[in-house]
Amino acid sequence: MTQFLFRDDSYLRSTAATVTAITPEGGIVLDRTVFYATSGGQPGDSGTLQRAEGSAISIATAVHPDGDKTQIVHVPEAGAALPEVGEEVVLELDWERRYRLMRMHSALHLLSVALPFPVTGGSIGADKGRLDFQMPEVPGDMAAVEAALNAMVEAAHPISQEWISDAEMEANPELIKTMNVKPPTGQGRVRLIRIGSIDLQPCGGTHVANTSEIGKLAIGKIENKGKQNRRVNLLFAD
Ligand SMILES: [Zn+2]
Repeated sequence: MTQFLFRDDSYLRSTAATVTAITPEGGIVLDRTVFYATSGGQPGDSGTLQRAEGSAISIATAVHPDGDKTQIVHVPEAGAALPEVGEEVVLELDWERRYRLMRMHSALHLLSVALPFPVTGGSIGADKGRLDFQMPEVPGDMAAVEAALNAMVEAAHPISQEWISDAEMEANPELIKTMNVKPPTGQGRVRLIRIGSIDLQPCGGTHVANTSEIGKLAIGKIENKGKQNRRVNLLFAD
């Protein structure tokens, strides 16, 4: 089983690791990783895997094989030479991209506070993100929503994680804002992300430690996605 180092420290950019398996598709499995794997709307990390003999393998993304959330496969760029099982390697994140994904992921949690409607979907990118809301009427004053969002950023709320049992999760369904994404129960415990006193929701993603790190935000296009659903795009203003 792979140790998910990003879960307790999302700021870890690099780690030494040992290759434990190569998948039939040519993916690389390690005993530990700093690479987040695609899930919950957040894309997998990219970066490099440094081999002991000096060469480097570009890693295009990281995924959970067959949806198995206890495993992470590092997907190399096509045509890369693969390391041997047992080989010691050093993993290095494309930190610039990952840090923007962290800032945007935290920003979308704030958006779910600024727009308190059920969330039906979402996507996180390094340049923009979006949430789909069950929100038949778009609030008239979106400038006020944007101002509220930036006030939460500037208020410098701490962001932290905590864990509850599956049973506690089932007893508190109001914590779930995203209707069609089930919190990852079945492993005995569920991870929650707390933003100061303003938000608490189940989430497996990587976040910044303080809302002030997000920077100024701008609400982008609002698109109609059927009668009930509105897609709200969010951008970094810088
Ligand atoms: Zn999240």
